[in-house]
Amino acid sequence: PYDVLVIGGGPSGASAAIYAARKGIRTGIVAERFGGQIMDTLGIENFISVKYTEGPKLAASLEEHVKEYNVDVMNLQRAKRLEKKDLIEIELENGAVLKSKTVILSTGARWRNVGVPGEAEFKNKGVAYCPHCDGPLFAGKRVAVIGGGNSGVEAAIDLAGIVKHVTVLEFAAELKADSVLQDRLHSLPNVTVITNAQTTEITGTDKVNGISYKDRETETVHHIELEGVFVQIGLVPNTDWLGDTVERNRMGEIVVDKHGATSVPGVFAAGDCTNSPYKQIIISMGSGATAALGAFDYLIRN
Ligand code: FAD
Repeated sequence: PYDVLVIGGGPSGASAAIYAARKGIRTGIVAERFGGQIMDTLGIENFISVKYTEGPKLAASLEEHVKEYNVDVMNLQRAKRLEKKDLIEIELENGAVLKSKTVILSTGARWRNVGVPGEAEFKNKGVAYCPHCDGPLFAGKRVAVIGGGNSGVEAAIDLAGIVKHVTVLEFAAELKADSVLQDRLHSLPNVTVITNAQTTEITGTDKVNGISYKDRETETVHHIELEGVFVQIGLVPNTDWLGDTVERNRMGEIVVDKHGATSVPGVFAAGDCTNSPYKQIIISMGSGATAALGAFDYLIRN
């Protein structure tokens, strides 16, 4: 059996695998797609100490760093079941069952898409998901935020300090965000809020030039000219396959303690699949290191 088996090969999983392997213990990593979300990321400017890099380049360095160590890398493999017996068993989609003394879950998350024409086409060409990451790219420009929940309104407040103008499009009749956030939003001079707005299309040529929405009351379609669209309708953790084996919160995120431990002894978790409040590369790498050290502590005590 493995001492530590990491499920997920994004920044958190790679970090966990390296920290585990450096303890000289038997380490494996299973990844559906090594690199994770950063494979879909173009410019990265907030990975501290690296002024600028690109997702696929960072993913290649992650893989290279992992391969410096004695880690079994099982890429293009998807875990579908976890079961705690004497050891922890992970069943893969291909039917193989891997056994380990500890497991680190680092299966990440995905942004919920609006699924309208133009969204996929203009991803990284004006359509963005992460205001912390991509906000500065729209300095002085006009943007829309789709979604009026906490993340959408936080994004709009954040962006209003950088961009020329922000339009918030909320599907429902009112914003869903906490009232302190709504008050803050309404105090900003360069923000317009449109409720009952169903986004119908993101328009553009080689990059975004506008957004169309249907007013759900009057059934009329409107078009706004702008340069960027931030989709903020939720981040979905890749944790469905866990069922009720480990405790998850109402958003489906795995609940971890300060050591990265989950509700199941020997099972740890890190990165965007957990209830960590902020989802960023540097944060997920830190939590991967924490989970590996937590798992090592667990191994020497059991
Ligand atoms: P992920 O990167 O999601 O990796 C999850 C891994 O688990 C993948 O290898 C996946 O294939 C695998 N996996 C999932 N399910 C299974 C399964 N059942 N079995 C096996 N493997 C599985 N952050 C920044 O700090 N700066 C940025 O500029 C930035 N830009 C971003 C731009 C975009 C478009 C996106 C989508 C995200 C961006 N982020 C950015 C966020 C950042 O990418 C994430 O916070 C980070 O990748 C989280 O790492 P993770 O390892 O927790 O999860």
